[in-house]
Amino acid sequence: MSPLSLEQAQDFARRGFNRRAFSKLATMITAGATLPFASEHALAQLSMIGPLPPDAVKINANENPLGPCKEAAEAMYNVIQKGGRYLYEETFSYAKTLAEQEGVKPDYVMPFAGSSDPLHRAVLAFTSPTASLVMGDPGYEAGSRAADFIKAKVVKVPLTKTYSHDVKAMATADATAGLIYICNPNNPTGTLTKKSDIEWLVANKPKGSVVLVDEAYIHFSDAQAASDLVAAGKDVIVLRTFSKLYGMAGLRAGAAIARPDLLAKIRPYGAGALPVTGMIGAMTSLKTKGLVEGRRKMNKQVRDDTFAFLDKNKFQFVASDSNCFMLDAKRPAGELVKLMAKEKVFIGRVWPAWPNHARITVGTAEEMQKFQKALLKVMA
Ligand code: PLP
Repeated sequence: MSPLSLEQAQDFARRGFNRRAFSKLATMITAGATLPFASEHALAQLSMIGPLPPDAVKINANENPLGPCKEAAEAMYNVIQKGGRYLYEETFSYAKTLAEQEGVKPDYVMPFAGSSDPLHRAVLAFTSPTASLVMGDPGYEAGSRAADFIKAKVVKVPLTKTYSHDVKAMATADATAGLIYICNPNNPTGTLTKKSDIEWLVANKPKGSVVLVDEAYIHFSDAQAASDLVAAGKDVIVLRTFSKLYGMAGLRAGAAIARPDLLAKIRPYGAGALPVTGMIGAMTSLKTKGLVEGRRKMNKQVRDDTFAFLDKNKFQFVASDSNCFMLDAKRPAGELVKLMAKEKVFIGRVWPAWPNHARITVGTAEEMQKFQKALLKVMA
């Protein structure tokens, strides 16, 4: 039996899906949140060589070695005993808190267990065989993999010389664009796209398209969030996750922030209660004073120290405003990844557009000391 409503089936037919793609989508919708697409973790696994030794330095998946803040950890621990219930109220309170902080109405926030899920759903909802995904290159691949899966065209637009999204080129890249993906700061480069550029894109995008602003790493930077564009009723969806600065990648919390009619388009793709640990951890993190500023400062300190070391030793890299950066390996960067792994330092993957660069996550000061030592050895 098809899990689709008549309305959904008609919508798919209108969007140019053929019978095969149509039944594939129907199967995915039945599967709900376990959509078979890539996440940062899965993508990072691809560049790993076997199980990691216990003393490994793991700076390959943009995780936060600090984990959740103390307040969030305690709140999660305390809620576990009540976990026999669905506890929807915790999810509602988390969404309400986020909405208040972002200056949007409560029904403009849809909570999720992380942001991979709404990212994939947005691709399913707004792209199709006749509506493309437009994204920066190099950019975070998860959305393009979801687009490939449903045979939507992916249009990759190189970053500018200053490594920001080339919004002018993106706006005209494909007149039939369904979704334009901006990751700010960008993964993998950690570089920023100016708010005024995002505003320009929103004002000049192809008719009927939606701009998806992925702010997974925004807390590490001074960038201005795009939630005011959502509040102003624009065709914009903002994604947030607690997997990065908040250190909750394994605990799972995130959100899509958008106009209710846009959120309604991603709602049908899956259902179910969200993990109360993630929800209460997210809410507590949002309410913990000084958390973002403190961790941002800590990350910047280690990042600046790492960049000073790279400069001193004449390594080339792209300066970043996030918890990751691209290092020029001066050779196919996959070789560097392997050599560093031999030193038990696991660095991130390589993007086809920049074959000589590898992405490095900014870990703790101690981890980055080990990174420096290993880098000097293998680059000698
Ligand atoms: N968006 C970007 C740019 C990411 O780098 C990631 C993960 O690394 C995600 C979204 C999804 O993360 P999660 O599903 O853990 O929230």
